[in-house]
Amino acid sequence: MKFDRKIDDAGLREGIAKLTPEKIQETFLQFIEGETGAKLKVYSETCVRCGMCSEACHYFMSHDGDPSYSPVGKVTQTMGVLLKKKGLVDPEFIYKCAQIAYTECNLCRRCIHYCPLGIDTGYIMSMVRRFCHKLGVTPLYIQDTAHSHSATFNQMWVKDDEWPDALLWQEEEARDEFPNLRVPLDVEGADYMYSVIAPEPKFRTQLIYQAAAILHESGVNWTMPSLPGWDNSDMAMFTGDFEMMGRLKRAHFECAQKLKVKKIVMGECGHAFRSVYDMGNRWCGWDNYPVEVVHSIEFFAYLLRSGKIKMATKFEGPVTIHDPCNVIRGRGLMDELRYVTSEIATEVIEMTPNREHNYCCCAGGGVINCGPPFKNVRIKGNKIKAEQLKRMKDQGVNTIISPCHNCHGGLEDIIHAYDLHMELKFLGDIIYAHMEKTKAVE
Ligand code: SF4
Ligand code: SF4
Ligand code: SF4
Repeated sequence: MKFDRKIDDAGLREGIAKLTPEKIQETFLQFIEGETGAKLKVYSETCVRCGMCSEACHYFMSHDGDPSYSPVGKVTQTMGVLLKKKGLVDPEFIYKCAQIAYTECNLCRRCIHYCPLGIDTGYIMSMVRRFCHKLGVTPLYIQDTAHSHSATFNQMWVKDDEWPDALLWQEEEARDEFPNLRVPLDVEGADYMYSVIAPEPKFRTQLIYQAAAILHESGVNWTMPSLPGWDNSDMAMFTGDFEMMGRLKRAHFECAQKLKVKKIVMGECGHAFRSVYDMGNRWCGWDNYPVEVVHSIEFFAYLLRSGKIKMATKFEGPVTIHDPCNVIRGRGLMDELRYVTSEIATEVIEMTPNREHNYCCCAGGGVINCGPPFKNVRIKGNKIKAEQLKRMKDQGVNTIISPCHNCHGGLEDIIHAYDLHMELKFLGDIIYAHMEKTKAVE
């Protein structure tokens, strides 16, 4: 299988410069012996090369059926060779493994649904990432976010004083509209702790404003933590730095435990949610979370069903739903998402495929965080998504709802590159704009 698409990345280049075949092999043997166990062995040995997973992968479909982009092709070119050669490979091969695992697979797990043997290629590729992390070979931009997690416990280098500043700034802004609104910091015994990802205080502060308005209007007893652990995101999960991933998850839950809250509500993000229900919790060895945690989809559904939030109007015009893999395929919130969407918009037209079969946005799995060198990989690797959106546009749908930050980032790039002129909305955008505001100034 030819690989003629090497992209220069300083993190990968400088990472492999420190390697020798002997060091790679030693690390590989320790890794296989100490970390992977039966799961990787079973997956690797049961694949019958039937190729049925190929049509599930947006990279394969977007590259006219090039087998090197198929799930089985990606495994064969990386973990397959590593296992066959017992890790005795040259550093340049590790560059190729890292480029494939970090930038040509979103870990979206669509392919697992199409494999008759249930092989989880996303898991195998995450093991390739883990091995590359152990060798110190990761793309520069995503490694920067992982370093930020290590240094600050948030992914955006937000300083300790900048975080409460951003909250107080949004509180002040919101008080023009809701005079009694507070963003209640560190309230012990609150019913809900609301947590967000670090890009919110950095780039999307209006989402904090909107969430505060919704929570205030609903009348629930809520709080936000002021201390490190407030960021619920986890790029370390995607670089393969599982030690750091575990520390982040602990810090997040410890915030909630210190405040003795009843429940954590996570903002509209897919990967942050996955880091809690799928990977971080397992690494920490938890059967159950120390504190109950829900995604915003579930929380909004509760607020609407219970009448704590009432819609004054609905969003006019047809909308469609982009189902985030990490929330829908991974966690099964498809019906709740449809309930909320039907409560807030006048007309919902489904894209096809949808629900757990939806195509990934091609930004997830940390791929968007690998930065500008790989932007075209995302855009070309998701021609199939652009075609899917174009079909919606042809039906008169110009608005896409998706409750995931990364999906917004990935879809924005696709919409722009393929000239689709569509708009993206979070659920919170619409709820805030169209809810009854009984506590606002007239
Ligand atoms: S996990 Fe997603 S991106 Fe990765 S091979 Fe499977 S379908 Fe493709
Ligand atoms: S569908 Fe499953 S068994 Fe067939 S090639 Fe893909 S991973 Fe292997
Ligand atoms: S960004 Fe959204 S669609 Fe893309 S992998 Fe994450 S959850 Fe899935």
